[in-house]
Amino acid sequence: MNSMKSRINKSLIGMGVVTMVITAIICLLSLSGAYIHHVQMDMEVMADILCDGYEQDHQFNFSQFSNYDMRITLISPEGAVLYESDANADTMDNHLERPEVREALEGGTGDAHRESMTLSVDTYYYARLLHDGNILRVSLETDSIFSMYTNVLWGLLGVGCLIVMVSIVFSMLLTKKMMEPVETMAKQLDHVGELSLYKELRPLSDALMAYQKKNSELEKLRQDFTANVSHELKTPLTTISGYAEMMENGMVKDADVPGCAEKIHKEAGRMLTLIGDILELSRLDEPEMVKDLRPVDLYQIASRCLESAELLAQRHEVTLALEGSSHQVLGEEGMLEELVANLCDNGIRYNKPKGKVTIRVKADPQTDGTILEVQDTGIGISEEHQRRIFERFYRVDKGRSRETGGTGLGLAIVKHIVQQHGAQIQMKSALGEGTCISVFFPPLPEDIDSESLKSRT
Ligand code: ADP
Repeated sequence: MNSMKSRINKSLIGMGVVTMVITAIICLLSLSGAYIHHVQMDMEVMADILCDGYEQDHQFNFSQFSNYDMRITLISPEGAVLYESDANADTMDNHLERPEVREALEGGTGDAHRESMTLSVDTYYYARLLHDGNILRVSLETDSIFSMYTNVLWGLLGVGCLIVMVSIVFSMLLTKKMMEPVETMAKQLDHVGELSLYKELRPLSDALMAYQKKNSELEKLRQDFTANVSHELKTPLTTISGYAEMMENGMVKDADVPGCAEKIHKEAGRMLTLIGDILELSRLDEPEMVKDLRPVDLYQIASRCLESAELLAQRHEVTLALEGSSHQVLGEEGMLEELVANLCDNGIRYNKPKGKVTIRVKADPQTDGTILEVQDTGIGISEEHQRRIFERFYRVDKGRSRETGGTGLGLAIVKHIVQQHGAQIQMKSALGEGTCISVFFPPLPEDIDSESLKSRT
């Protein structure tokens, strides 16, 4: 894993070294400029003194200045060396071609600068034309700029090491300082919103808070669901257990045994239905649920559901009707059957005697899709309950729901099936008049050919 410390460390060292190199170059350039200027000034001052001496007395003794580091040369207008402080003047070659001498002959003064072969010594020359036509030249040998650089190189290396060490310490302190709020956030996850953080960390803390909120909502839903399931299972089990105990203790007369058994059977059936619905819901809840979607005829499905619901309808004195025509939707047959059956069951169970449930399958002119409508003339749902009836275990009238074998999960399952099919659900209801639930299915995708459509349905 990439360490923040080592990244900061590298950046700091890089910054330090680059700054050091740039500063060193600028310093050396300006220092060497000042040094050269200083050397030239020295030579000019020396030349002034020597010239004054010579002009007053042509026999002027130059050698009295030999303990200054400067070399003094007197050259005739023809280039012959008349006096040389560092060597024997007679052995020296003609100096007329030296640039500083030529310059002095032409313009009164001349200067030049020559590097030695080894690059370690630079020699500066300054020449001046005297009144008698001779030329006085002073020269000074100095360490070359290059050798000055090598001298300071060790110093630079030392500073470089210091920068590396300081960078390491700083990066450790900086990382610690920067990570402090993140560590505090990790330690006080429940109070992230109350911490005073850098503004750069706000998006992270906001995301954390949103994540926590979602998590706690999910946790609450899960807890509610578990509590509801336990409660729903406990009610029939208590009844079953009560009857069984009475039979066990001989408190039930022989003639009443079938009645008791029937009640036990009914409650057990209710439990099985509930467990079936819970299993169905958890299957539909699966994020990676495998769906076998294929074109199916919704009208045929509705017709089959209507047949199965006939008995229940008769019991509730409700008549059933099917309207519309054959329409294909892309879906899973089992799920769609469950969807129609649940809506149809509700239409019957929350109806009034002599009521009616109509199932309609028709085209959706707006989207070219299909609409499934389940309309009843039942008790209706008041507005305050309409928003909540798709929640798990939400029931307007608990007693009526239980009596008619409801689990409170039917519409939650319907909602999930609708989502799995990319459909939309809509409800219109008026208290005492009835309810109409519509499901809008999207049109069949175009890449499904009509041949496979026929063979599949
Ligand atoms: P249940 O098993 O109780 O019927 P559902 O999830 O199917 O559970 O429905 C939730 C609640 O919505 C029901 O208890 C009932 O109060 C109300 N409801 C559902 N469908 C209808 C309808 N067609 N007419 C009136 N009320 C309905």
